Amino acid sequence: MPEAPDLEVIKDYLNANLRDAKVASCKVLRPTVVRSLAAEVTSDLPGRTFLDAQRLGKFLTLRFSGGRSLVINPMLTGAFQHCADSVLIQKKTCITFNMGGGMDLRYLDDRQMGKVYYIDNGESDGDAQDDLVPQYTGLGPDVLAGISLEEFQTRLKKFNGEIKGVLTRGVFISGIGNAYSDEILFAAGISPFKKCRALKPDELKTLHTQCRRVLEEATETLRVRMGGDIHKKVRDFLQVHNKGGQPCPKCGGNITQLNANQRITSYCRHCQPGLLIRN
Ligand SMILES: [Zn+2]
Repeated sequence: MPEAPDLEVIKDYLNANLRDAKVASCKVLRPTVVRSLAAEVTSDLPGRTFLDAQRLGKFLTLRFSGGRSLVINPMLTGAFQHCADSVLIQKKTCITFNMGGGMDLRYLDDRQMGKVYYIDNGESDGDAQDDLVPQYTGLGPDVLAGISLEEFQTRLKKFNGEIKGVLTRGVFISGIGNAYSDEILFAAGISPFKKCRALKPDELKTLHTQCRRVLEEATETLRVRMGGDIHKKVRDFLQVHNKGGQPCPKCGGNITQLNANQRITSYCRHCQPGLLIRN
């Protein structure tokens, strides 16, 4: 679920509310989600101070004193919760960090597809282990970082296939998932099934603009709507994603929705013309 806008809000929230907090304790409740690469996280992390949170694409990194980081890939169903430590632990909670002052930071994951990597970040005396985190080092520039149109075009040339699929692969640009790729393509008026090699110069320009604009706007909406409830999933303001059968906000026609490989694609056939050809 979390894409760049969600994680950007969570990152800013953690930086505003947890900076300089010392980890009092750490408990792993779902071991399949946790990879202790630097040392055993439950014994090594307590006593360290939270320095800051950083985000790249759909990864969130929490840095701690003494050269340690938690690199979190929430995949489809990962979520974070910051709450009083007396709050009942939900069944889907995978790992809890008691941050002192009676507060917990928790990582939750319905389907346990996400991963939490505890690594040596190389800032102390060890070797950085971020290359041990799958899919992390190959990530393209972050969608909110604002790459130029030239770089966007150059990077896109390395890919072929349908534009939606390329947008959601972090190696082109990172941070866009299934929901926001639908939103970007709707805003740009481009069919999700259009081959990226077939995009015309003006379509590329619009796509480049909309990638950043759509995600920036979503980030500001989420900042207001989520507030301190960083575990909340807010998606109701989206224009087309998961709104199959509802009226298109531009033309009033019905939004089309397909479900292939457990991925929903929502678009407007009228506003995003193009044939659905699979080859
Ligand atoms: Zn339409």
